[in-house]
Amino acid sequence: MRPTFARIYLDNLRHNLSVIRSKINPDAKMCVAVKADAYGHGSVRCAKTAVECGADFLAVAAVSEGVELRGAGITTPILMLSLCSPSEMDDVVKNDLTPLVFDDEYIDFLDEACARCGKKAFKVHLAVDTGMGRIGCLPEEAAEMAKKIVSSKNLSLGGMCTHFSVADSLSEDDVSYTRSQFEKFLFACNSVKDAGIDPGIRHCANSALTLNNPETHLDMCRPGIIAYGYYPDELDEKYFESKGERIDLKPVMALVSTVVAVRKFPAGHSVSYGRTWTSETETDIGVLPIGYDDGLFRRFNQTDGGLEVSIGGKAYPVRGRICMDQCMVDLGKNSGVKRWDEVVIFGPEGSGALQSAEEISRATGTISYEITCGISKRVPRVYISSSQN
Ligand SMILES: *Cc1c(COP(=O)(O)O)cnc(C)c1O
Repeated sequence: MRPTFARIYLDNLRHNLSVIRSKINPDAKMCVAVKADAYGHGSVRCAKTAVECGADFLAVAAVSEGVELRGAGITTPILMLSLCSPSEMDDVVKNDLTPLVFDDEYIDFLDEACARCGKKAFKVHLAVDTGMGRIGCLPEEAAEMAKKIVSSKNLSLGGMCTHFSVADSLSEDDVSYTRSQFEKFLFACNSVKDAGIDPGIRHCANSALTLNNPETHLDMCRPGIIAYGYYPDELDEKYFESKGERIDLKPVMALVSTVVAVRKFPAGHSVSYGRTWTSETETDIGVLPIGYDDGLFRRFNQTDGGLEVSIGGKAYPVRGRICMDQCMVDLGKNSGVKRWDEVVIFGPEGSGALQSAEEISRATGTISYEITCGISKRVPRVYISSSQN
């Protein structure tokens, strides 16, 4: 096995999913986002765990992601949140992926794919753009689009959805923007109803709204990041505590590497490209076989304080630039760190980590999503689970 890998704690995923399920209105469904390889955690294992924990739907972005889940024997409905190319539409139909639609041309393409595949009453969901500015028709166009869907030869309307742009922010402006987006969505759903068409499953709540706004749950929630153990930006643990609520999420991924060499450096020995760090005294330098191609990005060590990793529960600073495949840590003198010792870069409590991906994301000006999605394919995922799956 490669000395760099991601440990995936499936029990933590189960824990988070049960917290989420307990927060969703009892009569609303749960759609778990497993797009982007389950935010980097490995889509098949995470999707199977989600289904075992009561997911009624799964959500992917690309057709290939849906095909992978179907290939693994998953029969749960799969929502496809992004658009695909015309050449992929037969696969959408054959694999029974549920696409989002919102314009005439795309609806026609799918209708034709259904005709080619001999599929009738193929369910699509109508996406409404209430202010995200990404995909969807305008709220005023929803009734017309719904008519177009139900009068097509082979499509039926399975649901309606929208997506929020600032649901994870607490500023007054953003909170009122979210409220107005929700109202526009309700308007769109009602206009479809008024046209005599059943809007099907109405869904809009992402992680932030799933935890914070039960009135937006409607018929289904679509949480993602909270399943993997990270809070939606400003809606952190402290925020929920201030509301008198305890939301206990456990990060699912630990990023692990190994000290593959311990080298004794004299004073004045520089480390890595660009010679940005030089030892001031004699010190031991540990070499780690992990770099930016693995998702340990250069910028992680270019901010104030830089990146620290945990070896045996103690913090050691990364020194010099992170290379493509390797980086170096300063062990100091007499650390007792040995070759083949495990290094934990981030992870949940109990993983040996001193920080989670959330802390790295805050320190480097990004979001936890980007950290876990950034862990590349060459990093094996090792699943830890107390049960069989
Ligand atoms: C990714 C995504 C979600 C899940 O978002 P989180 O912030 O991870 O909860 C929900 N809906 C859509 C349309 C998405 O693209």
